[in-house]
Amino acid sequence: MNASSSTTAIDSTLPFPISPCKVDEQVIADYQTNDHVLIPQPDNPNRLADLARWMPGVKPGQPAAGDLNPVVKWQLLAIERVKAWLWGLFGINLSRCYTMTNLTTQSRRRFLMNAGASALAIPTLTDALGRPIQSDSAQPGRKLGIALVGLGYYSKNLLAPALQQTTNCRLAGIVTGTPAKAEEWMKKYDIPKGNVYDYKNFDRIIDNKDIDVVYVVLPNSMHREFVVRAAQAGKHVICEKPMAITPADCQAMIDACKKADRQLAIGYRLHYEPFTQEVMRLGQQKVFGPVRFVEASDAFKIGDPTQWRLKKSMAGGGALMDVGIYAIQGARYVTGEEPISVTAQFSPKTDPQKFKDVEETLFWQFQFPSGAVSNSTTSYTAGVERLYASCQDGWFELSPAFGYGPLKGRTSKGPIEMPVVNHQAAHMDGVCKDLLAGNKLPNHVTGEEGLRDVKLLQAIYRAAETGRKIDLKG
Ligand code: NDP
Repeated sequence: MNASSSTTAIDSTLPFPISPCKVDEQVIADYQTNDHVLIPQPDNPNRLADLARWMPGVKPGQPAAGDLNPVVKWQLLAIERVKAWLWGLFGINLSRCYTMTNLTTQSRRRFLMNAGASALAIPTLTDALGRPIQSDSAQPGRKLGIALVGLGYYSKNLLAPALQQTTNCRLAGIVTGTPAKAEEWMKKYDIPKGNVYDYKNFDRIIDNKDIDVVYVVLPNSMHREFVVRAAQAGKHVICEKPMAITPADCQAMIDACKKADRQLAIGYRLHYEPFTQEVMRLGQQKVFGPVRFVEASDAFKIGDPTQWRLKKSMAGGGALMDVGIYAIQGARYVTGEEPISVTAQFSPKTDPQKFKDVEETLFWQFQFPSGAVSNSTTSYTAGVERLYASCQDGWFELSPAFGYGPLKGRTSKGPIEMPVVNHQAAHMDGVCKDLLAGNKLPNHVTGEEGLRDVKLLQAIYRAAETGRKIDLKG
């Protein structure tokens, strides 16, 4: 399998790399649940392609079928111009000023078609949520300012260095509870004092125009509070995995971002990683026939026995919450299906003192609607990192599959050759590209996806605790 044949086969316009039928349903559902007018931008092929898929009359680069109501057209033009001037000159944000209720004379579907056509002619400064954006498309080369919250291992060693390589975003601010780190980071990354916050004064970030996106990189139990506060401060949010420690927390985070009209992405870096995208394609497009069996495991040997990862109140659980989530994701994105049932087993603890609060090793099995099954291991005792799929007519695997790379892959027909990228830079650039363009983020990296995973994490614990098969169909 060489890089060029693989790359051309990927449908890069798909918001979620699964079957086109499912994509359409998701896109339609998303658009229908959004009460804002969606205006495709001329420079936004994904949005146009989405519209074209489910509205045959709308074709990228061509007017939609049916005449555009001239009153609506001039209304659109006037409102957008005024909004852009107010935003550009005075920073006045007229978000939500332009919703379906403003245009009661047209059906939603009809309006969307017309809006699609008009936008081909009228440059818009409205983002995917209907809010004026900061003229990003009118400022080529503008980078979104990211503030990292929590300057621990991942921020220090992966995210901050990656932000020196990104093209759509930059490290603009930090939020830390450790003053010495603030000093060090300000010097190292030339961060102005005004862009440095602690956990108490964090909410003042609302007034900071340098910060567009808040990236929450805290212990799991703190994700909810800081995502909600970031949204309330009017910032888009990226939140590390696992999204939170309970589904209720995840829902509160989704609701807060919706209420604030901000977008929420989860730190699912692998969704922007070429080897991972390739195995998604191989599995979901049944390149080797239907997937029958998946082996997805992620584990490592944990060090410091005092760290928050070993405290249930902060981590939500043990290895499963930390790296097991990658194995859940792997089984889901290779099959392109949601599991319908799960069984799980804890292994005996080899160090009951160290693992007194959380599990050490856990095994689980998913069943999928197609009949595919997966088996997974996660552990804090020894390493494994593998994603293997056995299909009707062959097999493919990544090993390593979930770490920072380079990932390595092969199939029953030969090696998988894909470009090696910096995962964190690709992830942040990918998210920010959509934010800059005013696109709705792809479903597979949003809070809803994070919630799906956290529900599965909980179901796995329930299955292991009860010894019963848990039905996930409800
Ligand atoms: P660390 O323990 O290294 O850092 C967490 C930071 O959070 C601390 O350094 C501290 O920063 C801040 N913090 C605030 N309150 C507390 C507290 N009570 N206890 C501990 N730390 C606190 O964790 P990681 O950076 O490894 O992980 C952070 C998040 O990122 C987790 O959700 C984890 O799952 C995720 N992660 C994701 C990875 C990925 O590949 N996507 C990889 C690694 C982690 P400060 O001193 O600045 O206040």
